[in-house]
Amino acid sequence: MRSTVWFRRTGLLLLLLSAMLSLMGCRGTNLLSKQDEIQIGKEGSAAIEKEYKLDTDPARVALVQEVGQRVLEGMRKVEGKRAPDFPYSFKVLDTKEINAVSLPGGPVYVFRGLLEQVGDDKDMLASVIAHEVGHIVGRHAAKQISSSILADLAISLGTKGSAQKVASIATSLVMLQYSRDDEYDADRRGILYTHAAGYDAEGLVRFFEKLQKLEKSPMKGLLANLRTHPLTENRILRAKKLIAQLPDRQSASAAPGQ
Ligand SMILES: [Zn+2]
Repeated sequence: MRSTVWFRRTGLLLLLLSAMLSLMGCRGTNLLSKQDEIQIGKEGSAAIEKEYKLDTDPARVALVQEVGQRVLEGMRKVEGKRAPDFPYSFKVLDTKEINAVSLPGGPVYVFRGLLEQVGDDKDMLASVIAHEVGHIVGRHAAKQISSSILADLAISLGTKGSAQKVASIATSLVMLQYSRDDEYDADRRGILYTHAAGYDAEGLVRFFEKLQKLEKSPMKGLLANLRTHPLTENRILRAKKLIAQLPDRQSASAAPGQ
């Protein structure tokens, strides 16, 4: 049993080290295989769940699960055979930060603070989750994970991870910053997925407006999301344009109470 664990860990260490070397040798292309991404996602979520507390409130957990699964159905409709077969998961972190993150290969985390802001607006929550799923499906993290994060992960696997290393991996992954083009791509995918799942894609615009309001409020400090997914006027305009082009949208916006 012990030697199996050792082999598994050594195998992972070698895998990460080789990924790290290829990353340093050749930037800007898709460097990690899907299997690498799944492995990094697993190790990364172990680090995140050690560093942050999982929220076990049954109502919040059920809400995020329900919306997450429905977004996945929408994603599969949109992507068809292109949809990467990752082990997706949707969990809540018990922190008041207004944020959501995804890790390569499937894990999505919504922070309690964000759930408090979206309230019972499932369209808004679906838009946030779909944006994160968009990053995973677009395999954006593989391009952004720095050699230092991979080195930390490799060291953590080799040494079973000191508390300090685990904290640094968790922080690096939560603070992972995507390129502007990858943000647009995640928005575009998210809009298509929410719409295909039967949610109102306008939820994304409502979320953007909420962030803009919060940015001018004393809660500004809780908006880590804006540092990692910068919200620009251009981003909002692009999203509005895409939503306006969605099929069947006019009848939805003409519905009573809209
Ligand atoms: Zn993003």
